Amino acid sequence: KKLGVALVGLGSYSTYQLAPALLDTAHCYLAGIVTGTKEKEEVWANKYNISQDSIYNYDDFDSIKDNPHIDIVYVVLPNSMHADFSIRAARAGKHVICEKPMAMNVEECDAIITACKKANVKLGIGYRLHSEPYTQQVKRFVKEKTFGNIRYISADAGYYSGSNPNQWRLDKSLSGGGALVNMGVYAIQSLIYGTGENPISVAAQEFSTRPKYFKGTDETITAQFEFKSGAVGNIMTSHNANANRLYASCEKGWFELNPANNYGPLQGTTSKGDKISFPHESQQKLQMDDFAKHILFDAPNLVPGEMGKRDMIIVEAIYKSIAEDGKKQVLDFEPRYGFG
Ligand code: NAD
Repeated sequence: KKLGVALVGLGSYSTYQLAPALLDTAHCYLAGIVTGTKEKEEVWANKYNISQDSIYNYDDFDSIKDNPHIDIVYVVLPNSMHADFSIRAARAGKHVICEKPMAMNVEECDAIITACKKANVKLGIGYRLHSEPYTQQVKRFVKEKTFGNIRYISADAGYYSGSNPNQWRLDKSLSGGGALVNMGVYAIQSLIYGTGENPISVAAQEFSTRPKYFKGTDETITAQFEFKSGAVGNIMTSHNANANRLYASCEKGWFELNPANNYGPLQGTTSKGDKISFPHESQQKLQMDDFAKHILFDAPNLVPGEMGKRDMIIVEAIYKSIAEDGKKQVLDFEPRYGFG
């Protein structure tokens, strides 16, 4: 059986990545759409052969509970709408994939997790890289200690956000934050799977060079982390500079991905002179099939809701550190979920 997926929000990520990937998935397919834009209904219905009774808008969305063809609801809306639609999907008895960042704050993450548990549905976050071979190779280096213990890890994730100050990502009421919540979560993720540990502290700094453009959201942030093993780490995230890299300095060498978090193909090198190299496949295809396998065959959930919540705890600690002039914040994660 192939599981039916309904995409909620037909913006650029749904249009150019998720919907095309769902044509190639082995265990799920695009069965429904939820859109606030009437004109998109017919275009999508024709292009993806979606039946009229699997097309919803934001108001009649809850009646999706009566649709036996939809198994998974994938929330691909601005961040401020993630919690509302994820919770409504769970209440409709559908499994949920919620895009990153999981929500506006930790409290909303908890509400999503609770709603999914209560409805007995599965919850995954849209961190596609966990299904991606270069990232999985990094996890193997860490697990097998190919280069010994990690001493220092650095990750950068950012892009130049152009010249449209009216985009929702720069409106805090819709995004919850700036570069940190949009791209910084990738750098946080890189640090954690690149060390195999959750951090125990963070201290952060914010830089603003175009305050008129970035009115209410962070432009560039750096943050330093400590890990229990003794490893230290640094991230840089920006809406004003292109950056896409993971670098780990280890006891017996180093490994690097550059790019580390775009749609691929990624690239990797190591101190042994090897190139890390895998055939390219759509990351979104791999990600959605992994989630479908979790539902169908009880395969591991590579990106549980708790992982999205953990990252939001770190995001909040970073903003707190900045508000307190770079004061180090203690982080205490138990259980140590979200890597391996
Ligand atoms: P987008 O701006 O291209 O699309 C947003 C969609 O939401 C549009 O269809 C828009 O009509 C709809 N929408 C509903 N209410 C809106 C409002 N008040 N303001 C603006 N749009 C509104 O955004 P996107 O790039 O598709 O991002 C959507 C989500 O997916 C975000 O949470 C983003 O972080 C995430 N995303 C994840 C990845 C990834 O690689 N995992 C990549 C891109 C985006």
